Amino acid sequence: MHISDWFSRKPKYAVLKPEKREIPEGLWTRCPKCLEIIYNKELERNLKVCTKCGYHFKLNAWERIFQLVDNKEFYELDGYLESVDALPFDDGIYIDKLKEDREKTGLTEAIVTGKGKLEGFDILLGVFDFGFIGGSMASVVGEKVTRLFEYGVKEQLPVIIVTATGGARMYEGMLSLMQMAKTNAALGRYRKNRGLFISILADPSTAGVMASFASQGDVIIAEPGALIGFAGPRVIEQTIKEKLPEGFQSSEFVFQHGMVDMIVDRNRLKSVLGRIIKIWIMKQK
Ligand SMILES: [Zn+2]
Repeated sequence: MHISDWFSRKPKYAVLKPEKREIPEGLWTRCPKCLEIIYNKELERNLKVCTKCGYHFKLNAWERIFQLVDNKEFYELDGYLESVDALPFDDGIYIDKLKEDREKTGLTEAIVTGKGKLEGFDILLGVFDFGFIGGSMASVVGEKVTRLFEYGVKEQLPVIIVTATGGARMYEGMLSLMQMAKTNAALGRYRKNRGLFISILADPSTAGVMASFASQGDVIIAEPGALIGFAGPRVIEQTIKEKLPEGFQSSEFVFQHGMVDMIVDRNRLKSVLGRIIKIWIMKQK
């Protein structure tokens, strides 16, 4: 068997049938944590946080951007960058997956980057979208993150990145893993220029992205209940052959162990960010 044959096998897809819903779709959403049925408009008003138990629903990139920037005004940067099948895969599965997720999310890649204002301050903002190949970091994602830090140096602006990612994108192999070093180097240059990098970890924030820039924020903020770590709990348990403690790799657990600086509820996030930027600006003077 030739080595290239390993990658040419067709993936086996499991067909998931949606469960029978008693609730009319589009009007109500059931909270997966407390099972409360919430009116969608109410959920939107509460920034997609369960009004009963505080469960934070996943947000797509644009929902997140519009929650953070003033007046929903955002100037997207490098939106024209699109991934190519550089290795490439014999049967075009990567190209097919890109096409499928572009249609599904309406995005060109797993991160949207750009410029806007937050509480009146100019900021550079990057937001991952977990719906686009698991928010994975490939060449284009790495390039957009790198450029965001470079704009930060040039314009002396704070950089905020919200991660929701499963890590590096395996479809791009080593090219994808290289982005870990590249983004970190860009962050290093940005930091030398006294930049402020705020890393916000949404659910989930793991693997290659966590092992590079996401865990290097000057301030690291986690959303409540997010999965945060490098390898998944099952992989760790199988490797160390030990049972992991309760709640391992949740925001609350990593906060208690000093890996993140604070856990901030989505409803307070914008004002907390505004305060941090204000302090940073005052310290610059
Ligand atoms: Zn709930």
